Amino acid sequence: MAPETPPSRTSEIAVLVIEDAPEIRALLHTTLSADGFRVTCVGDGEAGLAAARTAPPDVVVLDVGLPGIDGVEVCRDLRTFSNAYVVMLTARDDEVDKLVGLSVGADDYITKPFSPRELNARIRAMLRRPRTADARADNSDPLRIDREAREVSLAGEATPLT
Ligand code: CA
Repeated sequence: MAPETPPSRTSEIAVLVIEDAPEIRALLHTTLSADGFRVTCVGDGEAGLAAARTAPPDVVVLDVGLPGIDGVEVCRDLRTFSNAYVVMLTARDDEVDKLVGLSVGADDYITKPFSPRELNARIRAMLRRPRTADARADNSDPLRIDREAREVSLAGEATPLT
């Protein structure tokens, strides 16, 4: 097992949570704060984009199913001004297909219900991946899903599935 990043370093990492379900938002705020991240939570896409412009986050946890502007549009808009790592929260498998098909520019996704522990692991894995190219100029989606083989790869790197 890789050693955990000390809390003194994760406290510098700003995580923006955009999720309309109050119970999930509260859960994410509690668990990510406990993991040492600096967490901001908002309930819709417009508030999320405004928050991202005001205080640029390092990581955005973005629900796909949002009232008003949905998560897919929020991610696209975010990509026009932000290089933040984006992990999408999807409610159903078909939302994953949609994300892949649309190449929205997300770095990872996680399907509900998920464990906060798994989300934390995904965020840490994303943060370990160096951002070499400017994500705003990158039109190719690094997320590749082979449903037949049940394999997911990100930026050519195989990602273990639970
Ligand atoms: Ca939702």
